[in-house]
Amino acid sequence: MLGSMMMRPLKIADILTFAAEVHPTAEIVSVRTEGDVHRTTYAETAKRVAQLAHGLEKQGAKMGDRIATLAWNGYRHFELYYAISGIGAVCHTINPRLSAEQMTYIVTHANDTMLFVDTTFVPIVDGLRSQWPEGLKVVVMTDRAHMPEGDYLCYEELLEGQPETHDWPDFPEETAAGLCYTSGTTGNPKGTLYTHRSTVLHAMMVGLSLPAALQPGKRILPVVPLFHVNAWGLPYSAPLTGASLIFPGAALDGPSLFKLMEQERVFSAWGVPTVWLGLQGEIEAQGRVPEGFGDVVIGGSAAPASMITYFESHGVNVCHAWGMTEMSPVGTQGNLPDHLDDLPVDERVAIKSKQGRRVFGVELKIVDEDGNRLPHDGVAAGELYVRGNTITSGYFQNDDANAEAFDNEGWFGTGDVATIDRHGYLNITDRAKDLIKSGGEWISSLDLENTVMAHPKVANCAVIAVPHEKWDERPLLVVVPSPEGRPEVAELMALLEEHFAKWQLPDDVVFADALPLTATGKVSKLTLRKTYADHRLPD
Ligand code: ADP
Repeated sequence: MLGSMMMRPLKIADILTFAAEVHPTAEIVSVRTEGDVHRTTYAETAKRVAQLAHGLEKQGAKMGDRIATLAWNGYRHFELYYAISGIGAVCHTINPRLSAEQMTYIVTHANDTMLFVDTTFVPIVDGLRSQWPEGLKVVVMTDRAHMPEGDYLCYEELLEGQPETHDWPDFPEETAAGLCYTSGTTGNPKGTLYTHRSTVLHAMMVGLSLPAALQPGKRILPVVPLFHVNAWGLPYSAPLTGASLIFPGAALDGPSLFKLMEQERVFSAWGVPTVWLGLQGEIEAQGRVPEGFGDVVIGGSAAPASMITYFESHGVNVCHAWGMTEMSPVGTQGNLPDHLDDLPVDERVAIKSKQGRRVFGVELKIVDEDGNRLPHDGVAAGELYVRGNTITSGYFQNDDANAEAFDNEGWFGTGDVATIDRHGYLNITDRAKDLIKSGGEWISSLDLENTVMAHPKVANCAVIAVPHEKWDERPLLVVVPSPEGRPEVAELMALLEEHFAKWQLPDDVVFADALPLTATGKVSKLTLRKTYADHRLPD
């Protein structure tokens, strides 16, 4: 028998409408590319979002259109999240750190109709626009006074004179709302297409799971970019719960973050370990933490025990979280339950070095090579699979990737290797996917290898991750020379530079007579990683 309750579609626009009504004075503060600090509220933002939505419609934007952004964390980017999804179009956030090739692939694959760009990234657009879909309208996210020369629309002019309310349409909650590409292990990036339903559910799940930060009056700094899985969902969970957002713009170094955090009394700051290393340096230099700083959410890569110890011993609670683009992204969070809160620091750190426990709505399983479930005993390690309403059911228009992504029970394979203990704490122990994560950004080892293999003096090669203090991991290229002789390192680098962004290039090249193989004859990256674990990369 079916129940008889109303069924209203979950809709992203309702979050901001709610925030404008119930948390009208909660703030959005942004360090702008124009150089100043901009302040607004959820109530004011709701009006501008309505204006922007009308402006988009005037430009011909319609349901299902992919509308891209290439921008830092700031209020205009936030407005785009709501205006685009509000009219039923898809907000496609592009990572500006990608190589020209990857970016062109993404814009073309998504078939974007409009692109909103911060002034900082206009040169990227200038350089690539001729290779992008014809008719792509480019809007620069600034006012008339700061507009560059060229064939661009002006963001503030789109809003000018438009009504400050919008009758947000209803559509099925499965309607696509956001699109975010993540690195493929082989070849091209893969898109996760979020729905209104998954986004609203995720906002509620995260709000419930991290109540210390996500509540009225709390001020949150998303250092994690809006182009990285929707800044871990903060543009949705913050307004939903009444927390304020402090957007740092482009300056993400330790001193800039410290200053902003103190000025704006940031309580909770979210980002990857590399960013917090910079902040740690500034805390050391000043001999104190920024006033009001009480909570840091660390994810994207494993939080080192030393970092957890540092913050915890300075009175800052560490929440070590794990997730993925394909999971909206939050899967687990590491805040301790109340009864463990008084443990001595070293015991807290031991637990917090694990990636935490699942949030409601995300199921976890670990399996052996044959897909058999492994016990949650904290010892058995296996590949981690996930299931839930905020997890992708298939990459955007990518049948090849989808064929490999799910097991026969329909669970999504994360490519991470983990243990889960009897209390539910997840511990990521290794990575099955052939990727390197540097400063929170992916580098595909296979893509680098394929390019290097084209050199006539290379018989075989492998790219592996080597631990790095600042960037977490950096790529090392291991080359087996062909009988023609040893290639020059400079030649190999020149070859790679044609296809990759500078930060994606290997830090070093070493030569070997042969590569170690697994039982099935594949190159054993595990053996190589062990062999070169202590390799000193040049500074
Ligand atoms: P994110 O924006 O969260 O970094 P990605 O999709 O780019 O999302 O990366 C997800 C992957 O990053 C995970 O599958 C895992 O390999 C790695 N990762 C994320 N968080 C952690 C963590 N806390 N510890 C270890 N690895 C992590």
